[in-house]
Amino acid sequence: MLYEKIAEALEVQFEETVTNRRYLHQHPELSFQEINTKRFIKDKLVSYGYTAIAEEIGGGGILATLDSGKPGPVIGFRADFDGLAVQEETELSFQSTQAGVMHACGHDAHTAGLLSIARAVLPLREELVGKLVFIFQHAEEVPPGGAKGIVESGLLDDLDAVYGWHVQGDDPYNGKIYIHKGYAMAATDAFTIEIQGKGGHGASPHTSIDPAVIGAYLIQQLQTLVSRRKDPIDPAVLTIATFKAGEGAHNVISDQAIISGTVRTLDPEVQDMIEQGITDMTENVCKAHQATGKVKYERGYPSVYNYPDETTLVEQLFKEKFGEDMVGDMPVIMGGEDFAYYLKKKPGSFFFVSGGSVEQRDLFPHHHGKFTLDERSMLTGAKAFALLINHYLTKKVGEPV
Ligand SMILES: [Zn+2]
Ligand SMILES: [Zn+2]
Repeated sequence: MLYEKIAEALEVQFEETVTNRRYLHQHPELSFQEINTKRFIKDKLVSYGYTAIAEEIGGGGILATLDSGKPGPVIGFRADFDGLAVQEETELSFQSTQAGVMHACGHDAHTAGLLSIARAVLPLREELVGKLVFIFQHAEEVPPGGAKGIVESGLLDDLDAVYGWHVQGDDPYNGKIYIHKGYAMAATDAFTIEIQGKGGHGASPHTSIDPAVIGAYLIQQLQTLVSRRKDPIDPAVLTIATFKAGEGAHNVISDQAIISGTVRTLDPEVQDMIEQGITDMTENVCKAHQATGKVKYERGYPSVYNYPDETTLVEQLFKEKFGEDMVGDMPVIMGGEDFAYYLKKKPGSFFFVSGGSVEQRDLFPHHHGKFTLDERSMLTGAKAFALLINHYLTKKVGEPV
């Protein structure tokens, strides 16, 4: 069976996969600046025998295509490869060599894992139908994100489905994967509100228009968008992160107040409602107090929508191979992922692979300077992809070759 051959190759190559991951870990680069990382990935792909390699897609992505030359499904697999502006604080022997930059989200493991499956499957091309596209993606961590440009390039237009996985470092490694059908991760928006009042003496509020009082009132009102305006079973978060008025003098009413925050939603209709609600409330609350209010609302990544059929497929294939209890449900995460852009365009699924390091006494969250992962998660993720390759791209019995 094709799967067994791919899985065996993955096991044989595992040492190289670990070496690749550790190299990437030692040489992290910030989003949109991944020059050395891109060179490393391309060199590896060439050394494995890939020739159809498209570079600088959407501002930095690398697409490696394995075309069997026979008609069949076209399936995409994605890994991201950017690091974070975090100072590494682990005790690892292969720590980051770049001060203040670290692979603190596990993208080094995603990339090494995808390289391993790309390598394992290439010698088996005669046994495949259809086409595989390995998507190595830059800049997941910083909006506008690398995925948007890659999707807009049109090079993925012929995909039938697209899959990706993220290491789940918060749980000790146990060989399981975690799935969630439907909306799985949030849309991540940011907003800034400018309230223009009229400054004056702190002892004479009647001659001023106090933007601090208006801002305080508005902050309370905005919470009702979440608590009163939407269906309670639709998740949403509206967080005010900053509120600034005045320059420090205790007896001055300032001219202006600035409020900023983030909105996290799953359902695009709730997202639209909250965006409109912030604008309406700001304008009307300000008007009621003779001030003016302006809102700058910036949409970040859309919410990640996992297609039920493609997610069920991952679940079934993994359970059949590894056991019923090896697939868990992933609770909805109100964090974002630019994998959402692929799923806006094509069906597919984004799942999680358990990968917290067991030796570590305390597990540190993603984006923490002490974040570490269990490298076996790369094998689990690659095997999940191998099961999908086996499902989609195996010649069916009796099918003409
Ligand atoms: Zn991250
Ligand atoms: Zn990440």
